[in-house]
Amino acid sequence: MRDVVMVDNDSLGPYRDRIMQSMGVATLVLLTPFTINNFLQGRHLVAVGIILLQAATAANGYAAWRGRRSPIPPILVLLTVVAALTAVSIKQGVVGAMWSYPLMVFTYFILVRRAAIAFSAALLIYFPWLTWRYIDAELASRHLVSLLLVAILINIVLSVISSLHQTLARQALSDPLTGCSNRRCMDQELSVLVIKAKRHSVTASVLMIDIDHFKEINDTYGHGQGDLVLQEFVAITSARIRVGDRLYRFGGEEFLMLLEQTDMRRAIMVAEDLRARIEAAEVLPGLRVTVSIGIAQYQAGQSVEAWTKSADTALYQAKAAGRNRVMNADWAGAASNSADVSDPHKNRRCG
Ligand code: GH3
Ligand code: MG
Ligand code: MG
Repeated sequence: MRDVVMVDNDSLGPYRDRIMQSMGVATLVLLTPFTINNFLQGRHLVAVGIILLQAATAANGYAAWRGRRSPIPPILVLLTVVAALTAVSIKQGVVGAMWSYPLMVFTYFILVRRAAIAFSAALLIYFPWLTWRYIDAELASRHLVSLLLVAILINIVLSVISSLHQTLARQALSDPLTGCSNRRCMDQELSVLVIKAKRHSVTASVLMIDIDHFKEINDTYGHGQGDLVLQEFVAITSARIRVGDRLYRFGGEEFLMLLEQTDMRRAIMVAEDLRARIEAAEVLPGLRVTVSIGIAQYQAGQSVEAWTKSADTALYQAKAAGRNRVMNADWAGAASNSADVSDPHKNRRCG
């Protein structure tokens, strides 16, 4: 799935470049016959208005295609259309009013949602007034209601798209079995943290947590029971987690916990507490499991990969040292499952 970021409830935002390109082509192709016709009929002001609109949308479409910012602010494009339609309404009557409907939709396509709502409210007042003043006073109320209906429909569609977008984004970032965040989410959030660390100093630690002998659980009790153990593990861990800490499923029976504003010393205490809680819990009736944990504190200039690799190496050492223990990336070679963290350097052990 393509990564698209929706900002400020603006569900079309990530696609606006594509919309600009299509609008540029559409106005060039569809409006050119009207431009020519208006010139031939002597309606030069209207023709010039349409040409200005075509030039503006084409320039913005071309810029979007080249990956550049729009040279003409979208609001200016809309105001050009309003000016052209005002001229058409005055000169050709109801023909001008007809174009207010696509303009209403166009507004939501090129402005961010909040701005579009404000602009469309102005259109709802202006166009029926134009109809009342220059076309037919009796048509004005019909124009208002039908234009309002278009605005309501486009808002319903955009709200549905927005909620679909949020559901998909949630699904794309969470693990369906355990409900915790997945690896994709982890990569995104750790990358953000590493980028922040380039600007100012960041204290953060990761715990790489792996359930011990998990294959045996699957082999003995079946895959379904194994799944329940994973869910129970996440439930126990989530209950222990502090606000701001994050748990991700790294893959299989391996999880990563991100502890922001946490140095190694504090991370060891958290890891040891977690290890002890898992050991003490009955994950399924009559079944207990243990975990091994590798810890790494973020080192300035490190990449996400180097940081998590460091925790993984510590985890590997915890496994090699007998499992059910916490190992710290800084103290390679030491291992313990005791809870003495009062002086971690005392015996070069952690946990
Ligand atoms: P170690 O103590 O060295 O970590 O041994 P282990 O048995 O836990 O590790 P190993 O890598 O040998 O086995 C991991 C198992 O986890 C194998 C795989 O089938 C199982 N597993 C991975 N994902 C899932 C899952 O979503 N559900 C279940 N039930 N099992 C899974
Ligand atoms: Mg394991
Ligand atoms: Mg594993």
